[in-house]
Amino acid sequence: MEKQYYQKEIETMPVEKIKALQSEKLCKQVKHVYENVPYYRDLMDKKGVRPEDIRGIEDLHKLPFISKSDLRETYPYGMLAVPLSDCVRIQSTSGTTGKRVIAYYTKHDIDLWEDCCARAIVAAGGTKEDVVQVAYGYGLFTGGAGLHGGSHKVGSLTLPMSSGNTERQIQFMLDLKSTIICCTPSYAAYIGETLKEQGYKPEDNFLKAGIFGAEPWTEEMRRDIEKSLGIKAYDIYGLTETSGPGVAFECEEQNGMHINEDHFIAEIIDPDTGEVLPEGSKGKLVFTSLDKEAFPLLRYRTRDICVLSREKCSCGRTFIRMAKPMGRSDDMLIIRGVNVFPSQIETVLLNEGYAPNYRIEVDRVNNSDTLDVYVELLPEQLSDTPDGVIKREKDLSSAITTMLGIRPTVHLVPPKTITRSEGKAVRVVDKRKLHD
Ligand code: ADP
Ligand code: ZN
Repeated sequence: MEKQYYQKEIETMPVEKIKALQSEKLCKQVKHVYENVPYYRDLMDKKGVRPEDIRGIEDLHKLPFISKSDLRETYPYGMLAVPLSDCVRIQSTSGTTGKRVIAYYTKHDIDLWEDCCARAIVAAGGTKEDVVQVAYGYGLFTGGAGLHGGSHKVGSLTLPMSSGNTERQIQFMLDLKSTIICCTPSYAAYIGETLKEQGYKPEDNFLKAGIFGAEPWTEEMRRDIEKSLGIKAYDIYGLTETSGPGVAFECEEQNGMHINEDHFIAEIIDPDTGEVLPEGSKGKLVFTSLDKEAFPLLRYRTRDICVLSREKCSCGRTFIRMAKPMGRSDDMLIIRGVNVFPSQIETVLLNEGYAPNYRIEVDRVNNSDTLDVYVELLPEQLSDTPDGVIKREKDLSSAITTMLGIRPTVHLVPPKTITRSEGKAVRVVDKRKLHD
């Protein structure tokens, strides 16, 4: 079958041309921001950089960074680069890590954002023949709005379900023969689990693909979802500050997400020194938006940790790829001096055959950190003897110890006792913060 792209010429543009395009857009964008956003102009002035110092992407490193704290400081409209009357939409972060940040969009900004999401849908095999069930939350959260707009652009039949109401979600999925579902991976896992409980097999639904993002998820989780829904699961990445989902998306290779480089420049920096790291290094992602009019962030420091690769992709797309983010730096737990990402624990649990229903609790007792992992027994393990359960807990604890280097206490709990997620899952409870 011939490969499908939403905007072929752009998505498969030779790398040198992409870079030239980025250089041209960057110069214009820096000028736009300098002239219209006093807050950023001050940052540039303090650093002694003038718009004319930026002659191409090779000069990007001269620009100051901005971060979430700048956005909180300038809340609500301090980053606005056009008259407010030219804006047509507000969206907001989910507030996972504190006070919400708002983003504003002109018609043009929405248009380009929806193009990015349309590219993701087409890369997942979407066409105008598809029925796209959007089960990301609608409202201020960007997930629903982004994929909804993208689906319209592709010409698919769009099912604006929003998240939640899983029974109705499933009924519509089956009655209306949804072929693509978009939601968080944790919600996809929950839908898969519910379908199974209702007696459906993976082949009983009409889904062929899922577009999942907005939270970190492991390869093990991907396989679990693919199996339970009988689909191919694609990753999609984005953040409110850069528009929303669609900054990067996966192709059929499922090997990293192509960053929409005609609209964004990605850099990887050393989180401590801010130094730009060479391709292939692990560090914090920084984005510069090249086309956004209303909220054009330059060198925005995300908290996401990942690696970029320019390696050729067999899908034909030339955009650089980002690996699955390991989670953000603030998801990282430091337990007894050891860095722990919740995704590492997820990997072990799924590899050991458990379902992705777990909770991680960290506390401090007598000045020593404790790590407790709660995970549900599988229904077929309910008939285990108490000794059998204790053995399972010990085995799981050893497997996690091998991964992390520190030993957790594992608690196997009855099925259905861990709250399911309909949006971004909250899996970590760090009680140490309560004592601080
Ligand atoms: P909040 O920061 O309040 O969660 P957003 O809703 O804008 O606000 O979420 C953006 C964040 O979600 C990203 O910075 C990243 O940490 C996470 N995220 C989005 N997509 C993915 C993905 N595919 N994989 C891992 N993390 C993701
Ligand atoms: Zn590809």
